Amino acid sequence: MIRIGQGFDIHQLVEDRPLIIGGIQIPFHKGLLGHSDADVLLHTITDAALGALALGDIGKHFPDTDPNYKDANSAKLLQRAWEIVVDHGYELGNLDTTIIAQKPKMAPYIPRMRRNIAEILNADESRISIKATTMEKLGPIGEQKGIAAISVILLTKRTSDKPPI
Ligand code: ZN
Repeated sequence: MIRIGQGFDIHQLVEDRPLIIGGIQIPFHKGLLGHSDADVLLHTITDAALGALALGDIGKHFPDTDPNYKDANSAKLLQRAWEIVVDHGYELGNLDTTIIAQKPKMAPYIPRMRRNIAEILNADESRISIKATTMEKLGPIGEQKGIAAISVILLTKRTSDKPPI
């Protein structure tokens, strides 16, 4: 039994906010605006994981009207969503993601992001792909007004749950 899910997210880039993507703080003169820490990549992974099981989205499970989630660490939110996935008897097949940012360059931070995400999802890094692209200076992302991300996730039913033959 396999289930597929996808997630998309975008946040505005503003002054006086840290830039946190994939659980890594990236040195930059702007950061992403949001109720939580606005980790655009982890939000798409959370949405993809919940979506794969048709369990709604990050906003349903962690509403931005809830003061508990103000400046929340998105790694913690993903961890909680992943506990729900595990409770449903699933584990990670593979995860493929793309960060869409004109600046800064993501490449130097991708290995640490992969390690972080592998740890949260309790999976080998070989199952986790993080790519980055620019918008070729086109549109609001190209003009550095925001950063977006896309994730696709495949969940597989844990074989240990199968009854013995
Ligand atoms: Zn978000």
